[in-house]
Amino acid sequence: MSEIKTQLVVLGAGPGGYSAAFRAADMGIEAVIVDVRETLGGVCLNVGCIPSKALLHVAKVIQEAKHLSSQGVTFGEPTFDLDKIRASKDAVVSQLTKGLAGMSKMRKVKHVQGYGKFTGANTLVVEGDKGTTTITFDNAIIAAGSEPVALPFVPKDDDRIMDSTGALEMKDIPEKMLILGGGIIGLEMGTVYHALGSQIDVVEFLDQLVPAADKDVMKVYMKTIKGKFNTMLETKVTAVESKDDGVYVSFEGKQAPAEAVRYDRVLVAVGRRPNGSLVDAEKAGVNVDERGFINVDKQMRTNVDNIFAIGDLVGQPMLAHKAVHEGHVAAEVIAGKKHYFDPRGIPSVAYTEPEIAWVGLTEKEAKEQGVSYEAATFPWAASGRAIASQATDGMTKLLFEKDSGRVIGGAIIGTNAGEMLGEIGLAIEMGADAEDVALTVHAHPTLNESIGLAAEIFEGSITDMP
Ligand code: FAD
Repeated sequence: MSEIKTQLVVLGAGPGGYSAAFRAADMGIEAVIVDVRETLGGVCLNVGCIPSKALLHVAKVIQEAKHLSSQGVTFGEPTFDLDKIRASKDAVVSQLTKGLAGMSKMRKVKHVQGYGKFTGANTLVVEGDKGTTTITFDNAIIAAGSEPVALPFVPKDDDRIMDSTGALEMKDIPEKMLILGGGIIGLEMGTVYHALGSQIDVVEFLDQLVPAADKDVMKVYMKTIKGKFNTMLETKVTAVESKDDGVYVSFEGKQAPAEAVRYDRVLVAVGRRPNGSLVDAEKAGVNVDERGFINVDKQMRTNVDNIFAIGDLVGQPMLAHKAVHEGHVAAEVIAGKKHYFDPRGIPSVAYTEPEIAWVGLTEKEAKEQGVSYEAATFPWAASGRAIASQATDGMTKLLFEKDSGRVIGGAIIGTNAGEMLGEIGLAIEMGADAEDVALTVHAHPTLNESIGLAAEIFEGSITDMP
């Protein structure tokens, strides 16, 4: 049994946790980071954002190569070496986790490997392979993240039924695969498996895939996946049965098949639940709600003065970049700075093909909140760059506050939408109005021009020069 005394302990080494620990160390605070994993990086780096993007890159290139046939270039049918695909994905993860370990060492942030639980407002006990470590701390940041939601009626002992971590392992390329849940993670994995040759069915309980995105945006997406994915909207899965020859799934609802359908693999991607109730935070006096979320104020402080919480377990959206910013704020507040977390927009991106991205208010949210707004959309069918790149299945949409003309939201669907979204995020954060965006000279021909062109549609975007 060993004992450590530190100024700051961070429980969980995901993007939130390591960002917090590194920022704290940079400000001269002695920090210890606890994670049950051997490597830093949490879900995002080890089994989330990064490995999925390595596989999505493969999917994108395959799709682009296929598209080229309309421009007179035809490649042969691709062949796949799954071992190499897997190894190259793992190499990406390994390069980044090694990089994080180096950055941690450089900052003298100690990594204690093991499962941590609070025993009081100043103590955490970590059980690891190397024994028990008791950590006494002045301040703590809880950054224990989230886990995939499991459905009670889905068999647990059949490895043909997977969560996102299982899907990333790419054990084989199933002939027929069901994605249970039409959210971002499910669609991203569906994009990968489809590119490698799987036939994909997607079932979603609600009337739209990626329910948080606007309907007009998803209309474009639905058009592009026609013939690629078989979607069943307003339909739910009622039973999942493992048999020798496959997994049989029964459905109920608007687009439900009459009989149970046989699949080679099923990916359950119905959301993630926070890990707040698994760390004995209550023993430190921290309130955890019945779902496992921990409430924090704008400074990421829980109801206990010296304990902060960040990332997936403090609420939606469960995204890495949100966790990073929250981590920085928590560390800065602990260092005595008067900082707080109050972004005007947090970008969301589905790295599907095409990508679906939005930031700030969606039109749906603007309506719900009674915001007086005007929307302007620019279809990519009118963009020279999109036409030249065979990427006309896209749209750029901006939302303006009606009276001020300020940009309050935006969405892009199309290839590289996630990269393009940054400009709209910056416009929102800086309080730019339609005129600012319209008068920004965008390079021609770029897909980004569509942002300026959408802004020009807003009445009042071009006023007289002073
Ligand atoms: P996490 O990354 O969840 O890390 C928490 C860490 O805490 C884990 O390492 C866990 O092992 C550890 N831990 C938990 N409890 C304990 C304990 N008691 N003791 C010790 N250690 C503990 N987000 C994006 O922004 N972009 C994307 O492209 C994206 N893609 C994704 C793809 C997939 C397949 C998945 C599953 C998620 C994706 N996400 C993406 C979401 C993103 O991974 C999370 O939002 C992000 O990782 C949350 O960071 P975090 O710091 O809150 O915690």
